[in-house]
Amino acid sequence: MVRTVLLGPPGAGKGTQAARLVEKYNVPHISTGDIFRENIKNGTELGKKAQEYMNKGELVPDDLVIDIATDRLKRDDCKNGFLLDGFPRTVYQAEKLDEFLKKEGVSLDKVIDIEVEDQELVDRLTGRRVCKSCGASYNVKNIPPKEEGVCDKCHGDLEQRADDKEETVLNRIKVYTEQTMPLVDYYKKTDRLVEIDGALGLEVVFQQIVEALGK
Ligand code: AMP
Repeated sequence: MVRTVLLGPPGAGKGTQAARLVEKYNVPHISTGDIFRENIKNGTELGKKAQEYMNKGELVPDDLVIDIATDRLKRDDCKNGFLLDGFPRTVYQAEKLDEFLKKEGVSLDKVIDIEVEDQELVDRLTGRRVCKSCGASYNVKNIPPKEEGVCDKCHGDLEQRADDKEETVLNRIKVYTEQTMPLVDYYKKTDRLVEIDGALGLEVVFQQIVEALGK
């Protein structure tokens, strides 16, 4: 059982690592970004509100995000652990998460911080293409699909996320530095932070996370 948070800038590989980690630990992968994208796809009120911020690379307001994340964490499948990806993203969100978990009588094991330098993030994000049908992720430079624009796994169409356009990417990195980086200190102070060099490659990063979680 693990209760953990993946921290790190957009493009650090949190989603990719999360997909492997949830298989290994058999816990749900909770991505607030995915929840918002699902709501946008379904045209819900929440989706409409979130989209305004997401398209600019801004954070969705705390109150909106906290309710969504804690509602999700209350579901039965989180009783034996969870992996949070993209939440919390502000110190306020982290404080509210701690409060929520305390009330539930549990706490986070570790917070995994995957760091990657800015230029590499820009290259990774602007080159990212995601399958519309199954969500598989590619990169036009490093991990291209066999056939351009087509998913290797399900033959679905590949598309660029609206917030992976260069201008938005630069803003997302700025927002991360200003609003999310303070979380590194927040978790360091309480001795929960494990820092991992995201430039090391998928496999090494995965092994180091598993070692850090120690289970
Ligand atoms: P992600 O898929 O985690 O990169 O999230 C995509 C976008 O969703 C972010 O750029 C934000 O606009 C929004 N978002 C996701 N999670 C949060 C959060 N915890 N707090 C605020 N906004 C978020």
